[in-house]
Amino acid sequence: MSSYAYDLITIGGGSGGVRASRMSAGFGARVALIEERELGGTCVNVGCIPKKLLSYAAHYSRDFTEAAGFGWSFGSRAFDWAQLIAAKDLEIARLNGVYAQVLATAGVEVIKGRGVVVDAHTVRAGGRTLTAQHILIATGGWPVIPDIPGAEHAITSNEAFHLERLPRRVTIVGGGYIAVEFCSIFNGLGSNVRLVHRGGQLLRGFDHDLGRVLVEEMAHKGVTLMLNSSIEHIRRTDGTMIVHLVSGDTHETDLVMYATGRAPNTRGIGLEAAGVALAASGAIKVDSSFRSSVPSVCAIGDVTDRKQLTPVAIAEGMALASTLFNNAPRQMDYANVPTAVFSHPCIATVGLGEQEARARHAAVDTYVTRFRPLKSTLSGSAERVFMKLVVDRATDRVLGVHMAGEDAAEIIQGFAVALKCGATKTQFDSTVGIHPTSAEEFVTLHEKIT
Ligand code: FAD
Ligand code: NDP
Repeated sequence: MSSYAYDLITIGGGSGGVRASRMSAGFGARVALIEERELGGTCVNVGCIPKKLLSYAAHYSRDFTEAAGFGWSFGSRAFDWAQLIAAKDLEIARLNGVYAQVLATAGVEVIKGRGVVVDAHTVRAGGRTLTAQHILIATGGWPVIPDIPGAEHAITSNEAFHLERLPRRVTIVGGGYIAVEFCSIFNGLGSNVRLVHRGGQLLRGFDHDLGRVLVEEMAHKGVTLMLNSSIEHIRRTDGTMIVHLVSGDTHETDLVMYATGRAPNTRGIGLEAAGVALAASGAIKVDSSFRSSVPSVCAIGDVTDRKQLTPVAIAEGMALASTLFNNAPRQMDYANVPTAVFSHPCIATVGLGEQEARARHAAVDTYVTRFRPLKSTLSGSAERVFMKLVVDRATDRVLGVHMAGEDAAEIIQGFAVALKCGATKTQFDSTVGIHPTSAEEFVTLHEKIT
């Protein structure tokens, strides 16, 4: 046993920090976890979970309308934002309690307060000075709003979860995950939504077809897409806001929400003084074993600014705990990490997009389909499903599986296993489908596009 009070002190009780702490304690380590807000971090409190609950709520407006095609009729419909937020808050409070319970059961000491690194083995928190053999920084990230005149009138996703009322008109800035997810939430709940994005394409980094399909489908649902546009300044007048674009155009709105990325939480927590090297973005630089430039200080999750996804932070936490305290060093494999954007329609993807595949492989074939799913024949929905396979011609391996449409996230999770196993197009073709589903199209795609 070391002379330090703890074997591990974790700063940050989010997805990564909780899992690393819990597993380390399970391997016999003496662990303290410091959290300054609520346990569960971004995902539980202002991320994945409340976002998905609001997204479910937004789906109902369409479901009610489409049910008519199947013989259903309803009386008058009403939506109560305050009721939804109260129900969501209750569920989040329940989850906070579950996290506290899980940590207590594992034997992790939870310390409330802000953790600050003093040196390679010392942390200050809650008026105490604590020492540990290893320090884990899992402090996540925080939304960034560009510095424009009137930015103080805008909110981020953090505040969107606690609005007092549903805004009648919303302007959302950005073209990434959060922007398109919240466009769909507010649009589904009945707000008038505009998306202002500096680029010409949504979801940069994804297969380009997915961004293109999403633009079409969101426009069809009534979202006003202002691509290649930027806000110059925001002016507040009585009760409303005037958004001035660089182009000179203006529009009135009730809420401006920025979803323009998140910066790592590394400021003011003693990292520089302790000698921990940071990248230009503020992210902690780590090696493949999550070690920073100070070997006793490790970092995982969003604070390292690699893939900002909960399952990635959790997997990194498990690999770190195993490496430090189970005598079984593990590294993280970032290839074929599946991901979904919970916009309407849902976008989900695993592996390489066509553009990335062409840059890495000599010859690539693509298989694409876009169709009206069976449900739409009676529901009357105009939404069409998009599916795409990207295949390496030399090896026949499927490099990427991409989908836009209902249940895309649920469907792609299974195909992620296939890609992890190195599945070939021939193996996809020899797989029997489940009929009638949309997913079966992935194993019956025969027409090559290129
Ligand atoms: P976090 O979960 O951010 O935890 C960091 C914790 O550290 C926080 O609780 C913070 O309070 C605490 N902290 C920070 N500094 C200190 C300090 N000095 N002292 C004490 N405590 C401190 N990912 C998905 O996979 N699926 C999704 O659907 C999804 N939806 C999202 C929706 C939104 C709106 C957002 C913002 C993110 C979403 N994400 C989603 C991303 C996901 O939430 C993050 O990738 C994940 O939470 C990162 O986990 P983490 O442990 O690195 O950090
Ligand atoms: P993203 O990185 O996904 O998107 C940021 C968007 O903002 C991009 O379209 C970017 O444009 C634009 N942008 C960046 N800087 C500026 C600027 N100065 N002015 C105008 N536009 C700007 O970040 P998000 O904030 O949407 O989400 C943060 C991360 O959280 C995501 O990357 C994701 O990892 C995670 N997340 C995951 C979710 C999920 O799994 N479903 C859901 C929500 C978040 P450009 O494309 O030109 O760079």
